[in-house]
Amino acid sequence: MFERIYPSKIILPMKMHYGVPATPTVSVGDYVRIGQCVGVPEKGTFSVPVHSGISGRVSDISEIVLPNGIKTPAVTILNDMKRTRLESIKPRSGFKLSAREAMGIIRDAGICGMGGEGIPTAAKLRRAKNEAVQDFLVNCLQSEPYSTSDLVAITEYPDYVVLGSCACARAVGASKCVFLISENRKEQRQALANSIEKIKDDFKDLQFDIKLFRERFPQGYYRLVARALYGKNLVLGETLEKSCKAVLFNCSTMLACWEALSDNIPMMSRIVSVTGDASGGHNMLVPIGTPVSELLSNAQDIKNGSDRIVWGNCLTGIEVKDAENTPVVKTTSVISVVRRMDVPRTPCIHCGLCSECCPMNLSPNTIYEMLNQGLGQKAAEEGARDCIACGCCSYVCPSGIDLTTSIASFAGEGRIIEVNSLLDNSGAEIRTAEDVDMSYVGEASLLEDYADSDEDTGESSSDSLTLPFEKDKKV
Ligand code: SF4
Ligand code: SF4
Repeated sequence: MFERIYPSKIILPMKMHYGVPATPTVSVGDYVRIGQCVGVPEKGTFSVPVHSGISGRVSDISEIVLPNGIKTPAVTILNDMKRTRLESIKPRSGFKLSAREAMGIIRDAGICGMGGEGIPTAAKLRRAKNEAVQDFLVNCLQSEPYSTSDLVAITEYPDYVVLGSCACARAVGASKCVFLISENRKEQRQALANSIEKIKDDFKDLQFDIKLFRERFPQGYYRLVARALYGKNLVLGETLEKSCKAVLFNCSTMLACWEALSDNIPMMSRIVSVTGDASGGHNMLVPIGTPVSELLSNAQDIKNGSDRIVWGNCLTGIEVKDAENTPVVKTTSVISVVRRMDVPRTPCIHCGLCSECCPMNLSPNTIYEMLNQGLGQKAAEEGARDCIACGCCSYVCPSGIDLTTSIASFAGEGRIIEVNSLLDNSGAEIRTAEDVDMSYVGEASLLEDYADSDEDTGESSSDSLTLPFEKDKKV
């Protein structure tokens, strides 16, 4: 179950994804409707468009700084509470799409990964297709403490999660669709199994499987998945696509893909867990851009007086200093309110707990010392770049040493190289101004009806996806 929140305003950062910020297409005073595109990728950039999840007037366009330090232009829209939406948001009329058209819809819907670094989904799908992946993996693990937004998405919309996964699996040419879920999540497992049973006759070309994982944190990172499912230890720069012929997507991202493919809905809202370690727990369906303060004011049972508000999960998230002006972004799955604890900082006592808990089998205390002494090369040889920033080592350290910040920021540079390989391998297209600008001007929807328009795609009919849209379905 989730609560629906209609905020008084939204603050839409133009950069909520991996890549460069989009450019605002509206001006102060403009009226926007639900679903309207308010930011487009600039010519020649790796980016995704941004859409409004409310109707109202643009009150401000200025630069903001997100808690992770990213500076980005942001469009603020005051909610008129009329919920006026674009007429184009309705079930798609066609039943047949080419793979290219499906990826075009997903790109134009502004969809990026909702569980990690916000990699543009269309680019990732394109890379998977180019690498001829066979296994399409759907991450339903959500192992972060207190965070249950993905699990709620599965419970409430299992058919959308499964249909989105099937459509994307078919688009990349995979032969298997595999859902990864914790063995303890019986309700969600059952919901997925029921949905698979319902739709499997429409996707006879796909095999289905549900793989059970132990309940622990972290679980869903692609290198851990590669080790668990394929017995491979991927080194930096190796991809799941190339090394295991598999691709991994978050289940909420798959839900968003099906909303775009079947109902013309862009990425404009998401489910967010609002949770505290001392009290309360909520899941809220909110327009993207909702200020954190409005989430908290709707969660009265969560005490946030002297506690820390964390943008993200309590182990790896970042403290929010200004809840009024910090929005929920496309990748925000949880806002945590945790007790402020001042752990006394003492020298390392060599207890070994940090090494014991590290999912990447590193020695965080050794690496930390090397980095402190400026021995970056040695730290890299010790595996520092494999750090996935899970936060476990800092959490367990009895000496209160913040190992994660220094190791993860050293490793971060490597991760940028890793994600950048998308640009090399996605086969795409950095879009031109002619490609994007005109289709978004004014009140245009992002999504034209692509159905039955595959004559000029140059793709053979064997490349087409026949999707089981329900006729007369209400959005
Ligand atoms: S944050 Fe610490 S425990 Fe987690 S992967 Fe990095 S070094 Fe290992
Ligand atoms: S957990 Fe802390 S005290 Fe223990 S070995 Fe690691 S850094 Fe040292």
